[in-house]
Amino acid sequence: MLDKFFAPRAVAVIGASREEGKVGHSLMKNLVEHGFKGPIYPVNPKATDIMGRKCFTDIASLPDGIDLAVIAIPAKFVPAAIEDCGHKGIAAAIVISAGFKEVGPDGKELEQRLFNAAMASGVRILGPNCLGLISTSSSLDASFAAHYPEKGDIAVISQSGALCTAILDWAVRNHIGFSKLISIGNKVDIDEEALIEALNEDRDTKVIVGYLEDIENGPHFMRTAERVTKTKPIILIKAGTTEAGSKAASSHTGSIAGARMAYQCAFRRSGILQAPSLESLFDYAQMFSYQPLLKGRRIAVLTNAGGPGIMAADAVENMGLAFATISDATKDKFRKFLPAAANVANPIDILGDAPAEVYGKALKILLEEGGVDGVVILLTPQAMIDVEEAAKQIVHAAKGSKRPVAASFIGADRVASGIEILQRNRIPHYPTPERAVEALSMLDEFVKWLERPRRVIRRFAVNTTKVDRVLRFSQKRGQLNVGEQESKEILGAYGFTVPRDRFARTADEAVSAASAIGYPVVMKIVSPDIVHKSDIGGVKVNLTGPVQVRDAFELMMMRVREKEPNARLQGVLMQEMVTEGREIIVGMTRDPQFGPMLMFGLGGVYVEVLRDVSFQLAPITSEEALEMLFGTKTYKLLQGVRGEKSVDMQLVAECIQRISQLSIDFPQIAEMDINPLKVSAERASAVAVDARIRIGAENGQL
Ligand code: ADP
Ligand code: MG
Repeated sequence: MLDKFFAPRAVAVIGASREEGKVGHSLMKNLVEHGFKGPIYPVNPKATDIMGRKCFTDIASLPDGIDLAVIAIPAKFVPAAIEDCGHKGIAAAIVISAGFKEVGPDGKELEQRLFNAAMASGVRILGPNCLGLISTSSSLDASFAAHYPEKGDIAVISQSGALCTAILDWAVRNHIGFSKLISIGNKVDIDEEALIEALNEDRDTKVIVGYLEDIENGPHFMRTAERVTKTKPIILIKAGTTEAGSKAASSHTGSIAGARMAYQCAFRRSGILQAPSLESLFDYAQMFSYQPLLKGRRIAVLTNAGGPGIMAADAVENMGLAFATISDATKDKFRKFLPAAANVANPIDILGDAPAEVYGKALKILLEEGGVDGVVILLTPQAMIDVEEAAKQIVHAAKGSKRPVAASFIGADRVASGIEILQRNRIPHYPTPERAVEALSMLDEFVKWLERPRRVIRRFAVNTTKVDRVLRFSQKRGQLNVGEQESKEILGAYGFTVPRDRFARTADEAVSAASAIGYPVVMKIVSPDIVHKSDIGGVKVNLTGPVQVRDAFELMMMRVREKEPNARLQGVLMQEMVTEGREIIVGMTRDPQFGPMLMFGLGGVYVEVLRDVSFQLAPITSEEALEMLFGTKTYKLLQGVRGEKSVDMQLVAECIQRISQLSIDFPQIAEMDINPLKVSAERASAVAVDARIRIGAENGQL
């Protein structure tokens, strides 16, 4: 799809320069020196030849048959150059030049002109403001980077050009090969989505890694990524996502969720593996590039030192992998050549004085053991071990293995040459046992993604007409924060159980409401100006008789008036007291980029403090809803501690699914919480004891 970029027949360098140190010179130099096979045509009105190639005065005088132009001229001339390329039949352009939207309003306007030129001429553009592109399969270095990588099957895309140079430097040092390296710059035309799509088709690319700061069209990008990750892993770092939840939020969910969370959800939903750091990005990439996928999750550790073996074993547990059990037959094989003091169970400890060949022998045996799906090999440079020989033995034993291996030679100078041998031979090497195990666990993540069941969204029978009416009514009164009672009506219409309640304006009314409901009761303040009621003394639970109700009414009015003198107090809501159950929160907030995000977690008044919550995007399947539960400590509470009965998890998952459906059905709901939802093991029930819904101001027309 982007073949003209990746494998052009001929390349023109617009703004080529004879002067060393200029970008236009580096571009020429890289193209010439890194072995591009096709013709290279410099364009520069002031030169006759550059690096031994005849120079052309302008684009119009270039010969035909050029696929790619690399442009490094002042920004203001770029739109016209693109038009010239169009006339010349040059289909692809890399705009290296900076001075576009990154420099302010004038640059932004210029970028718009560049976009218009691209549209009018049909020339596809990478950039502007980028480092360029490297495609090792066609020996094309259309960048001004100082390094050129080895050939490999990792494709790198980066929104930061500067980072590309750092990545290259480091990849060269560690023998990490790339199929492509693409600096996307301001992405006036070709963006991350188009690249992922093109790289999916690229036979030289096995794994796609990227550094992104923003994503153009969230939902569309997700759909493409979901398709690509069915075959090729995508590993991304998403930078610039630390901002907290929306300041304007009135719900707990809205105040906890933020862009970072939304990206995390979106990546998970589309099978993208998210790397927390640059280090992890390439830790994972090497694993996917060099090794086969895991077919199970039983990991064996092979070591010549006890301590690191235990560290690896811990990591295996922590990363959700399983510690392999070594069969008796295999143990016997080990005993034949290992000293009596060696440990033949997992972690297999061949001891500090083991000669290098033992690594090869032992690894071969482990890779043939039926109960092992992957192996972590550890080496510490003790006594007399020949580190290089051990590395060679490992390379040899692992050759052609259907099971992944990862190595960690721990140390610095004494292990360096061994590490180099591993790296050159596609055995992924990690400085610590933990990182080796973590990289293996990513293989497992990806396999889980490939094997996930087809997504089925359950639809519940609900009363949308009723919800529509309540929302309309709230909105007509200009009330964007839907009151507790109305919110619960909405929940009722979506199949939730809510406590019986009655509105009361006076103490007398409160008493008669209480006796109609039945003691004990709860009293709550009703005001369009108060969102968090208990913060200001607006909730009183466990009222057991008329006297308490009267006292509570007077006290509540007094307190609330004191704390919120300007709030309009309409009265109180008298409510059935739900005595049993554990308190959880189920909520939703709408992310501007990715849509409704659902939240589940520990409920009550300390939600923001404890933050034991998990998120997923709507719509959600029942498996995904259950996953949300597993992702929290609250799950353990729901399972029951100290002899308590377990809550029905399916029931909780169903509540999340119902909120998912509500948020899809009613886009005007900007955010909402049910906090708490009281779930009881004894009564097998979930009761929405409190609820708040906020209608989006910008989405006003119902
Ligand atoms: P807010 O969240 O606005 O402060 P809530 O209605 O959630 O007010 O009440 C605060 C707390 O009071 C709840 O977290 C819950 O522990 C308790 N509570 C509220 N209503 C009931 C009820 N009907 N039955 C039992 N406990 C309740
Ligand atoms: Mg509450």
